[in-house]
Amino acid sequence: MKVNEWCMYCGECAGVCPRSLIEVRESCLIFNENECKDCRICIQVCPVQALSKEE
Ligand code: SF4
Ligand code: SF4
Repeated sequence: MKVNEWCMYCGECAGVCPRSLIEVRESCLIFNENECKDCRICIQVCPVQALSKEE
């Protein structure tokens, strides 16, 4: 997962991940990519379009 500079670390993406794979720190997000099922709910809920999938 790629996080751009618009991220404000609000934690919304972490709150919706069905597998709780996102950890929000003060100025970074940590993704447990290995467990990610690519549902992209986190991308959809981000209010500032800060997330994208690394292809
Ligand atoms: S929902 Fe968007 S702005 Fe909020 S922490 Fe996640 S990536 Fe950052
Ligand atoms: S794509 Fe789905 S499973 Fe992967 S981190 Fe985002 S919400 Fe979680």
